[in-house]
Amino acid sequence: MIKVTVIGAGPSGLAQLCSFQCAVQKGLDIPEIVCYEKQDDWGGLWNYTWRTGLDQYGEPVHSSMYCDLRLNTPKECLEFVDYSLEEHFGKQIPSYPSRAVLFDYIEGRVKKADVRKWIRFHTVVRHVAYNDVTSVFSVTAHDLIRDMQYTEEFNYVVVATGHFSTPNAPYFDGIETFCGRVLHSHDFRDAREFKDKDILVVGASLSGQDIASHCWKYGCRSVIISHLNPPTGYKWPEIIKEVPLLKKIEKNTCTFEDDSTADVDAVILCTGYLHHFPFMASELKLRATNRLAIPNLYKGVVWADNPKLFYLGMQNQFYAFAMFDPQAWYVRDIIMGRIDVPDRDAMLADAEDRLARENAGKDVYDEMRYQSEYIKELAADTACPSFDVDAAREVLFQCRKHKNEDIMSFRNNYFKSLVTGTMAPMRQKLWKDDFDDSMESCLCD
Ligand code: FAD
Ligand code: NAP
Ligand code: MG
Repeated sequence: MIKVTVIGAGPSGLAQLCSFQCAVQKGLDIPEIVCYEKQDDWGGLWNYTWRTGLDQYGEPVHSSMYCDLRLNTPKECLEFVDYSLEEHFGKQIPSYPSRAVLFDYIEGRVKKADVRKWIRFHTVVRHVAYNDVTSVFSVTAHDLIRDMQYTEEFNYVVVATGHFSTPNAPYFDGIETFCGRVLHSHDFRDAREFKDKDILVVGASLSGQDIASHCWKYGCRSVIISHLNPPTGYKWPEIIKEVPLLKKIEKNTCTFEDDSTADVDAVILCTGYLHHFPFMASELKLRATNRLAIPNLYKGVVWADNPKLFYLGMQNQFYAFAMFDPQAWYVRDIIMGRIDVPDRDAMLADAEDRLARENAGKDVYDEMRYQSEYIKELAADTACPSFDVDAAREVLFQCRKHKNEDIMSFRNNYFKSLVTGTMAPMRQKLWKDDFDDSMESCLCD
């Protein structure tokens, strides 16, 4: 019997399990599947934890999410076509729900698909190697509860371990002299910690923007956002200021590239994450940065050097779940012999071409177009449940325009579901006045 392992039961790994379950429903024979998940539950980053640093087993904490986290793009761009939000909640919900609502929804789809049976929880993958003689992978896993390590053989490996968990934490001159808390966004849990404080946020991408916004919402005194790239240009409230990159720190005084200075109480590094696969043998290890086209991956998922190895969700994500489904169905169809892959040179040329096409983009709207076309391309090759990607792209454009108008209120907007055609309700409370991120509060809106 052919054996497949899926490493990680976050949204992308779960999409892979759903794709196989869908084949079962159609009466097809599927391979044996084992999904290893190091946490005690599924959901990946959406499985919130109060912990930071190491978990109860001594493993690095996976989730980077925090209290009061809301979607940063409308839910209309990630609704499952085969499992609508209305089917799950029994009604239409606001366009920017909280993390708890999303977790519940992710869980609803996989409960319905009945894929939990394939998952071995609290089991971390320690090593993946390929044997050229036997043409199988050996996968060493560690059952954290029984504290037992074992090795199993597989014909195919799907890596779905995410890439927003291992902090990229650059050194800044003198940072060790800072008197106060220095943390990475991975360890940020609650903006209340920074009430009445002056904060420096380093990095002006989505974490930097959202953490600055939360600190403002929860009453910090001031926020300085220090940017590597050009400033975001958003219209920030008076207490938030954008400055050039941090040059050095002396005790509490920060100096920036334009030689301006500021005294702050805490430094939050929102400097992104590393693609980190310590468990992959060197020749199988993906080396990538957070972008839309990933080197060495044919069609963005197939490891060109060994097409029995796949990586899911390794791209930066305008669409998360809506991209994972076509990726997962594509991988499933290769494994099930319904799609052939070309030779190595052709696969590498495909990956190169994707990088070049991404590089040719001019702005964030081109990036959104690029990922929309990618989703359409994979969906066309599979029987993946697909949706109106062009309409979703328009929703993304709208969201971006709302952000340009007022970054502090873009989450007050609402859109029409692309799955059921019904309009999301308008939120009763504005985002800035809503301090309750519980599912109950979000749903009774
Ligand atoms: P993950 O969610 O990271 O899941 C990976 C899984 O693999 C985890 O369960 C982990 O425990 C497991 N794992 C890791 N290593 C091992 C191992 N060695 N052995 C076994 N298991 C392992 N996307 C949106 O669409 N909307 C949002 O609003 C949004 N907000 C976000 C906010 C933050 C702060 C971050 C960091 C990301 C956000 N994202 C958002 C993007 C997010 O990447 C996706 O939504 C999604 O969680 C990615 O799914 P994934 O399964 O690929 O990875
Ligand atoms: P990111 O988008 O990769 O951004 C990291 C930022 O750090 C980039 O701007 C980068 O600049 C900068 N940087 C890297 N090295 C630096 C250095 N040495 N000095 C200064 N700056 C440096 O990562 P992210 O912002 O953490 O976002 C990760 C994911 O989380 C995204 O998918 C996002 O959507 C999601 N997220 C969602 C929410 C939400 O509200 N739902 C909140 C937070 C995050 P370069 O671009 O030049 O490398
Ligand atoms: Mg990912």
